[in-house]
Amino acid sequence: MRFPARLSLNNGVMMDQMGYGLYKVPPADADALVSTALGEGYRRFDTAAMYGNEVGVGRAIGGAIGDARDANLGTGGSGESVHALTREDVFVTTKVWNDHHGYDATLRAFDTSMANLGLDYVDLYLIHWPCPARGLFAETYKALETLYREGKVRAIGVSNFQPDHLEQLMQSAEVVPAVNQVELHPWLQQARLRTLHSQLGIRTEAWSPLGRGQVLGDPAIVALAEKYKRTPAQVILRWHLQLGNLVIPKASTAGRIKENFNVFDFELDSGDLDGMAGLERHHRTGSHPDNVN
Ligand code: NDP
Repeated sequence: MRFPARLSLNNGVMMDQMGYGLYKVPPADADALVSTALGEGYRRFDTAAMYGNEVGVGRAIGGAIGDARDANLGTGGSGESVHALTREDVFVTTKVWNDHHGYDATLRAFDTSMANLGLDYVDLYLIHWPCPARGLFAETYKALETLYREGKVRAIGVSNFQPDHLEQLMQSAEVVPAVNQVELHPWLQQARLRTLHSQLGIRTEAWSPLGRGQVLGDPAIVALAEKYKRTPAQVILRWHLQLGNLVIPKASTAGRIKENFNVFDFELDSGDLDGMAGLERHHRTGSHPDNVN
């Protein structure tokens, strides 16, 4: 059975489960890598003000949807299928960085991101980190609600929110976050957060879905790759899809970009899913959200 490749957010907006992540993609490479990903079938892109590559992301998407902003792309002949896209076919996430928490600063940060991207709207806008020591995430979220009501974003959400941050946010939020994007891979499975998300109607999005590559050599994953005649990355990404996670692997070569997308024609059996649940190590490749401010 083919697993559905799209999920509905709590406001009805549809989101491809699989997207392309752009953390540490150099600004000069973003345009070409997003274009490559579009050519492979990716339609969802995860960037952030902090990544510094929104301009390249927007340029690639603008070219793919025939935006005349760049004459070379608008009239060029690179990939007819990509040029047949419309803005509605593509889903762009960006995020407000930690130094722009607060209502007015967030609205300004959003305007900058929009200018960088060159788009009329953003599909999903996230608070990048809760920054609990700043004490401003609830106010920051109010700005996201304003942008949502004004139609400048199709959905809003958060990233790196721990259960206590979410519970605090829910005391003042008028719009339930559509997504919480958190570190999640076989060595950090986030069971408690995933349960809380399903109770609240929040989608779980996995950042560093491959554990920044560290999990690829796990002997249990390697054994599953041999069993299914796939690569370790494909086994892990398939696991994410079957858990119901949104997933955004980053890769820097055309081969890996293609490999990571080629996960919709096989299925891990329930015994192997149970086995992967046992790989939990509570191992973070990134910072703990309480320590980022
Ligand atoms: P990933 O788990 O996606 O791993 C990326 C690493 O794995 C890179 O070194 C990449 O190599 C390698 N890799 C990718 N595909 C393969 C493959 N098929 N075989 C072997 N190696 C592979 O980590 P990221 O930290 O990049 O996370 C993904 C995305 O999540 C980010 O790009 C970003 O969009 C988001 N993110 C969000 C955060 C947040 O705070 N909200 C924090 C961190 C990430 P190479 O690049 O050399 O191809």
